[in-house]
Amino acid sequence: MNGIVTIGPDAGHQRPVVALVAHDGRKEEMAQWAAFNRDTLQRCTVYATRTTGKTVASQLPSAKIHLLLSGPLGGDAQLGSLIAEGRIDVVFFFWDPLTTQPHDVDVKALLRLAVLHDVPIACNRSSADYLISSPLFSVPEQYRGDRKRAL
Ligand code: PGA
Repeated sequence: MNGIVTIGPDAGHQRPVVALVAHDGRKEEMAQWAAFNRDTLQRCTVYATRTTGKTVASQLPSAKIHLLLSGPLGGDAQLGSLIAEGRIDVVFFFWDPLTTQPHDVDVKALLRLAVLHDVPIACNRSSADYLISSPLFSVPEQYRGDRKRAL
């Protein structure tokens, strides 16, 4: 037993593996950001919570987006699990600081797990721009190496 229970992408999948999540008030911003970064994102393996994934799908026509459950129905928790298993390289999480979320505990857990497992996470557009334009973004295996499964 290696502690891996989720179904990951096929062998030979593209790195980095990125996760996209946006709360309702920030989905439009996420869609604009995804369109601006289309070429880069379409070279990645993409996971997304369901509604976010469907929102950005038209901006990323040649990306295969792995849809998790919708956030309030467990998608954030699923993503937290993927992070804990070391399957996610970078998270782009445009959470809404102005609206109470019914799944706030899952949101907190996702943020906590990303910090705990030292997974880069951008929570606003400027941070997302910095992360996706970093030279480290395209070489996660070199940057993260064995640290990824160190816990
Ligand atoms: P959604 O979930 O992409 O299904 O809207 C995001 C969230 O609210 O965490």
